[in-house]
Amino acid sequence: MTLKASLFSLVVIVFFTSCSHSTANRNRVEQERQDRELASAMEIARRPKIVIDAGHGGKDLGALSHTNPKYQEKNLNLSTALLLNQFLQRMGYQTIMTRGDDYFVPLSLRASFANSNRALLFVSVHYNAAPNTKAEGVEVYYYNSKEDKERTKQSKKLAQTVLDQITANTECKSRGVKHGNFAVIRETTMPAILIEGGFVTNDGEIQKLSDPAYLKTIAGSIALGLQKYLKAGE
Ligand SMILES: [Zn+2]
Repeated sequence: MTLKASLFSLVVIVFFTSCSHSTANRNRVEQERQDRELASAMEIARRPKIVIDAGHGGKDLGALSHTNPKYQEKNLNLSTALLLNQFLQRMGYQTIMTRGDDYFVPLSLRASFANSNRALLFVSVHYNAAPNTKAEGVEVYYYNSKEDKERTKQSKKLAQTVLDQITANTECKSRGVKHGNFAVIRETTMPAILIEGGFVTNDGEIQKLSDPAYLKTIAGSIALGLQKYLKAGE
């Protein structure tokens, strides 16, 4: 073999060796990236999962203000639910929303969605209406199931903790914790509550509810209430 030929062989060997090294390097980096992604997904999957249900949506407007038709319950529900979603995620919970925009979702789907996702808690966000324009305050509902006494007990406890937190932070009137036969809290299988965060038919309350800072206080209070309930059960 000539010197030229042997030099050429050496270059070829070095070239292929470095190629196989860089391929092995790339494979290792890719494997590490996949491992990190999997570990992060597994960590998120272990966090408690909370379903946030923004009431109504799309063609279903919910409650309407008597004096100003621009205030529709479905929009207040969605704004509050999106804020609640942010708070809970920052606190480290896994969240799923039954709707994240303005569209219609049937009630039965909302409950089956929570059940099939094996959520730990279910919270439905609504605002209230009454023929009496002076009606005001916050009330929280739970379903009084005779078959599942433990779920009833836990739902009631959750309702009270969230109500206390909202009234402490907003100083609005407490209308108490109540039994409610609403599909979303009746058909779900985990502790579930439905919050009526104030009356869109009361001009004083709609004034407060039209302030994004006030909705943030309500959403933050719901998040703190849920956290308190979960911590108490640890
Ligand atoms: Zn409603």
